[in-house]
Amino acid sequence: MHDTTTTETQRIQSIHRDFVGTNGTQSVTIKMPLPGQVQIEAQSSTPSDSWSFRNAYAGVLGIAERISDFRSTTSSDEDAGVKKIATGEFRSDLPASKISYRVNLSKPTAADVSHVSWIAGDYGLLMMGDLLPQEFANISVRFELPGMWSVTSSSSGTANLYQDVAPEKAVFLIGRSFYKASQVVDDVPVTTVIGGRWPFKERDAAGAATRVMKSYLALTKYKLPAGAFVLIAPLPVKVGDIKWRAETRGSTVMLLIDPDADFNNWVGQLSIIFTHELLHLWVPNGLRLEGDYDWFFEGFTLYTALQTALKLKIIDFNEYLNTLGRVYDSYLSHDDDLSLIEASERRWTTPGSLIYDKGMLLAFLYDLKIRKESRGATTLSDRYRELFSGAVAANTSGNDAIIALLDSPPAMNGFARAYVDSKAKLELEQVLPSYGLTLNSSSKQSQLSVNPDLNAEQRQLLRSLGYRK
Ligand SMILES: [Zn+2]
Repeated sequence: MHDTTTTETQRIQSIHRDFVGTNGTQSVTIKMPLPGQVQIEAQSSTPSDSWSFRNAYAGVLGIAERISDFRSTTSSDEDAGVKKIATGEFRSDLPASKISYRVNLSKPTAADVSHVSWIAGDYGLLMMGDLLPQEFANISVRFELPGMWSVTSSSSGTANLYQDVAPEKAVFLIGRSFYKASQVVDDVPVTTVIGGRWPFKERDAAGAATRVMKSYLALTKYKLPAGAFVLIAPLPVKVGDIKWRAETRGSTVMLLIDPDADFNNWVGQLSIIFTHELLHLWVPNGLRLEGDYDWFFEGFTLYTALQTALKLKIIDFNEYLNTLGRVYDSYLSHDDDLSLIEASERRWTTPGSLIYDKGMLLAFLYDLKIRKESRGATTLSDRYRELFSGAVAANTSGNDAIIALLDSPPAMNGFARAYVDSKAKLELEQVLPSYGLTLNSSSKQSQLSVNPDLNAEQRQLLRSLGYRK
């Protein structure tokens, strides 16, 4: 099975914006008057004269250009005299308690399909983060959809009323028919919703999600309060070679796949995607850390997902090594002239995959080193447990908190700091032999393999990673 890690396409961003609830609470009604278009009406408990819509997100620009026919009305049903002062920015002469507008969602693109709302064919993903003004903090939502269309969400409620919805994290899948399976894994509710026709059995996909959830509950020992809501829907636009797009927002994993993709093993492929995306429910979505520490929540997530895939026998040890070899080639093919912190800050504005490739390889080296230094007593997994044990304070710098956590064992003192904060390059050829691994870069693709003459300590270390000889 091919890994999906080296060119990971999903772009996950945890939003740490604190909204001042200047508009009180809002009741929102969403209608679909035409295919691909929504009509939104919102009534606020407190009048307002200013509304701002998200215009940029995860490298996607111009999101608010899809909004038209914006109107505002006072509490006495007078026209409040609204003006558009910039893309997504509306101001009215009078305070208004009601607004209405249309949003054209009919043109998803390869770049934005997992990040912003769309409606195409028989399905649509409605993300409140880009459909509602950013001043809205606590809403109730009602849907009036054409016959045969229904709606599902991790928010509690029905189409008639979803209450206490936080727009930043709320995602609704609309469509003509869904498969839905709900399970409880170690007290945590896991719901899988699948729209469309697929070459796999829906219950096998739900089972794969459940297995991965179980594994991450064991890793973190942290029971996600909101559970997990996994949405699978047909990808509404061609996206090139990867054939899928994903984003994990709040407690929702959105996975959009080309139903015609030629995966040899669909459930295996879904499982691989789940090992990455489901971990995002914890990291970063379950954390309250600030700043750009993407090198950790993407790079270390890639490595931990790979370890988990190996543990769950979705891949074998050869594939584990081959994946790391490919990632190393990818790392070497780009300039490494930024620190991981700088690369995290520029993730959406510069090309390249440094946070993914270098972050993942750094996690690998960390795991090797701590296993060796502790003679197998501790692993990288233990840091995840600590991360969710309350040891890391909320609302602090993610970079400082994670580096301090990784460097907390005396044997690891300064390790993460050196590689994350400075521009230290990774040189696997130099480092790996002491762990019993050899990197052969003489052919076009680097080959990572186990040294045939392992000493007892190396054998034990590699076995703890999943080597079976
Ligand atoms: Zn990711």
